[in-house]
Amino acid sequence: MAKVIRYTRFSHHGQQSGSSIERQDRMVGDWLKNNPEHEFLPDLSFEDLGISGWKGKHASTGGLSRLLAAAEEGKLDGFIVLVEAVDRLSRQAPLDALDLFRRILTHGVTIITLEDSQTYSTDTVTNDPSKLIVLASKVSQANQYSQNLSRRIKGSYESRRKKAAAGEQVRVRLPWWFNGDGDLDPRKSRVLVELFEEYVSGKGERQLYRLLEKRLGRDCPYADPSGIKRALKNRKAIGEWDGHKCLPQAIPDELWYAAQNAITDRRPAKVTQSRTWPLSGIVYCGECDVPMTIKPHATAPNMMCQTRARKGTDACEHKSTYGHTVLDWLRAAHELDALTRNAKEKGNTDRAADLVVLRGRRSDTAEAMQNLVKVLESGYVEAMAKRAQELQAELDALDSQVAAMEAESNWVPTLDPNDLNDAANEMELVDKCRMLQLAGLRITIYKDQTIEVEGHRYQYAKYDRKRKGYPLVSLTTGIEELIHKG
Ligand SMILES: [Zn+2]
Repeated sequence: MAKVIRYTRFSHHGQQSGSSIERQDRMVGDWLKNNPEHEFLPDLSFEDLGISGWKGKHASTGGLSRLLAAAEEGKLDGFIVLVEAVDRLSRQAPLDALDLFRRILTHGVTIITLEDSQTYSTDTVTNDPSKLIVLASKVSQANQYSQNLSRRIKGSYESRRKKAAAGEQVRVRLPWWFNGDGDLDPRKSRVLVELFEEYVSGKGERQLYRLLEKRLGRDCPYADPSGIKRALKNRKAIGEWDGHKCLPQAIPDELWYAAQNAITDRRPAKVTQSRTWPLSGIVYCGECDVPMTIKPHATAPNMMCQTRARKGTDACEHKSTYGHTVLDWLRAAHELDALTRNAKEKGNTDRAADLVVLRGRRSDTAEAMQNLVKVLESGYVEAMAKRAQELQAELDALDSQVAAMEAESNWVPTLDPNDLNDAANEMELVDKCRMLQLAGLRITIYKDQTIEVEGHRYQYAKYDRKRKGYPLVSLTTGIEELIHKG
């Protein structure tokens, strides 16, 4: 029967509440259950919390130094010390670590590493030389881990992180809308705002690149349009570095996140609006979910499935063509519905913007969490576990905020749709259609020639020469409209 104590070390306090301490407790508990002949003395156990095993500080001032002193005074002769793994005792350079083991073991102490069930004592390493090799390789691994970790957080990074976390401005590489002093360049940051606004309102990267060239001339920071997307995704635009707001902010949060949503949402097919035929961004083929395209005609243009027009008759079964007049009539008949619905959905625009920001932050945090999980899996557990807890807490908080906002179904529109409609009536058709597209107006046509718009259904029919119009029957009300050309 031997007396048993344990030695525990965490390099970060955050791990204490995490799974690490539970795991270590469970391991110790299991070992004691399987070895009931030994006497556990929890009060004599040693621990170092929040101390790294790398610099050896724990061995010179902490709990390990007291363990070492007790061993060297002969007080632990015949004792068993339980540790989770070799790296709990040391991450020092291999020879220093081996020396630490030597100093403990030569005083009659047995060290058991629970993770791999190895027993180290003067006897076992003498009788079984492979133990020494295992130990040497373990201490070497433990040290390698720390060296890699250290390389990552070395230099000024850690101190800049701390400053950033405290909201202080830090010196980092800054993008083109900053000047040499780390402040916003007034002219360039205004151009950046313009880029974000134009992107959110539907402009493409090429158009934005031309705009940037025009505004900045020889100062244009990019050689081609590919830089635009990088600028739009750069978190330094909202003054963020390393997850903290520590730089001057050029773009308001809601605009930045609206742009991120636009980047995610914008499929190539969606940017289809042409100036000549603005309806093309609103009318969709219900069979293949692609915008309809125009078949120009001197007096009566038609619309048809773009997939079929471009890729041939096998690409989509939807072969009918539809009078542009009818579709424009539907647009006019339902634009107020679309604006009203959109106003209700958006409700208080500030809160809608808040929700956009919240959803964006939520997906950022989830992404950071994912990255962190990868890092954790690769073995950098200690330094990252604390950050994982922070992120999880943030994620939980954001989830409940988003859920709370989404649960409020009684949002009241602050804009009167009639006012909107008055404004819409004064707009050019192309601008109005862009607004309606943003409001989510969509006229969807199926191959049986039924049309769906804002919850209403219609049956389309060919132009009736006798009656000089397109008969359009509302399947919702049963009423027929005769729509004349022009
Ligand atoms: Zn189609």
